[in-house]
Amino acid sequence: MYDLMIEGGLVVDGSGRPPAPADVGFRDDRIEAIGELSREPAGVRLSATGLVIAPGFIDVHSHSDFRLWANRRAESKIRQGVTTEVVGNCGFSPAPIAPEFKGELQSFAGFLARGLDWEWRSLGEYLRRFEAEGSAVNVIQLAGHGAIRIAAMGFARRPPTAQEQLRMERLLTSSLEEGAWGFSSGLIYAPGSYAETDELIALARIAREARGLYASHIRGEGVNLLTSVREAIRIGRESGVPVEVSHLKAAGRANWGKVAEALAVIDQGRREGQDVTADVYPYLASSTTLSALLPAWALENGIDAMVARLGLPEVRARIAAEVTSGLPGWENPAKNAGWDGIMIAACPGRPEIEGRHLADLAREAGQAPIELAMDLLRAERGRVAMILFQLGEDDLRKALGHPAVMIGSDGSALAPYGDLGGEKVHPRNYGTFPRVLGTYVRDEGLLPLEEAVRKMTGLPAQKLDLRDRGVIRVGAKADVTCFDPRLVSDRATYAEPHRYPIGIRHVIVNGRVVIRDGEHTGTLPGRVLRRESERPL
Ligand SMILES: [Zn+2]
Repeated sequence: MYDLMIEGGLVVDGSGRPPAPADVGFRDDRIEAIGELSREPAGVRLSATGLVIAPGFIDVHSHSDFRLWANRRAESKIRQGVTTEVVGNCGFSPAPIAPEFKGELQSFAGFLARGLDWEWRSLGEYLRRFEAEGSAVNVIQLAGHGAIRIAAMGFARRPPTAQEQLRMERLLTSSLEEGAWGFSSGLIYAPGSYAETDELIALARIAREARGLYASHIRGEGVNLLTSVREAIRIGRESGVPVEVSHLKAAGRANWGKVAEALAVIDQGRREGQDVTADVYPYLASSTTLSALLPAWALENGIDAMVARLGLPEVRARIAAEVTSGLPGWENPAKNAGWDGIMIAACPGRPEIEGRHLADLAREAGQAPIELAMDLLRAERGRVAMILFQLGEDDLRKALGHPAVMIGSDGSALAPYGDLGGEKVHPRNYGTFPRVLGTYVRDEGLLPLEEAVRKMTGLPAQKLDLRDRGVIRVGAKADVTCFDPRLVSDRATYAEPHRYPIGIRHVIVNGRVVIRDGEHTGTLPGRVLRRESERPL
């Protein structure tokens, strides 16, 4: 007697092996049997006729730790077939907190965060608070270097003192002991951008000790792409830590074509024995905070200091001059995307401009675009998000097709209701996984179905050393996504981003049915995954 049976599907097991017809039987939170099981009794039976039975997708690059508090049903993720999210990326995590720098951390992450009460200090405390109320998806937490640096030394724009470095190392050690799977950096964002490579290597050694990984939003994704990939690989080589290059891309038309070169650098590291991989989302626009347009010094001492600075005419003039003419070594997003290529995604105080391009808004206001950007950042205290149309299709295809590149949304669990649904967010929040399966596998034949599924399941599981997930195998955890390969498609667009995909029929998390015939059951079986319990010896 099985608790649950999925009947009559095509199993794509996550390893890259081709599809094979089978039924799958579940008991408790495990896969109990795979094969011809149609005469066996089961508590619940779900039909998978015409459907693929795949491992639940692992979103290796997510920011949902700042959104699941307000959306425990994880609507936009679970409806893509995602059953586990790796959160705490790009240097942003809601913990650890040092009380004296709590405000700095809150404003640092303000453009991402909704519904958090910030009533915790350590990462362990944070995770216990989070898991007490459950979530539809499993969560793997990374400790953000930005958060750790803020807790150790605020927003200081300089290398740490020996004592501050030690404080960072202790915070990372305790975070890893308390449930962090590794750590992440965001080297375009202050204060992560204030860190030199040696600071990161020392922290990476601690992650290595704990068998954790290092995921990096690298220092530059345009003109500095290759040196930035090399920096990430050097951090891995000198510390021994596995490296994940986050959301691989070449930003700015002048840099299109560089993804192939970046992949060659990654391949070289792999040939030399390093564990280095990357992830990608299937879109030609990126998205981040509007404050990323400013040179790093403008954010010194935090967002409040930035807001004050943006009120000073001489400082504004200097920022405007540097954004126009560039600074040595600084990757200028306004230059990469061009003002026509920047759209306001979220602006809580002026929702009417969400979805509008900065160049058009500036023209209407009779202002230079950088002046308008500074006005918005000042009025909204930094809480403005933008979308940058700056990526090339050939680069995207190179990344999607590479065997060491997995799929990561760089998005969060959102829902099209309440205060979650008004903004013109990036469609990746709703469409990443179905878009790969629909557009790039079925419609364009860029990669075989089983290879795309491996990039969403087996490959991230291997990277994370997550031994019982990301695979359909007897004894594995019952995280499963059933989808219709003829139908699966994203529906979210830049103009209408809050639209769920189609073709994702059933989603099982830890043996419980969360999506049944395309509808959310409301059940919240997700867990915070911890290395001790997920890596049986
Ligand atoms: Zn990032």
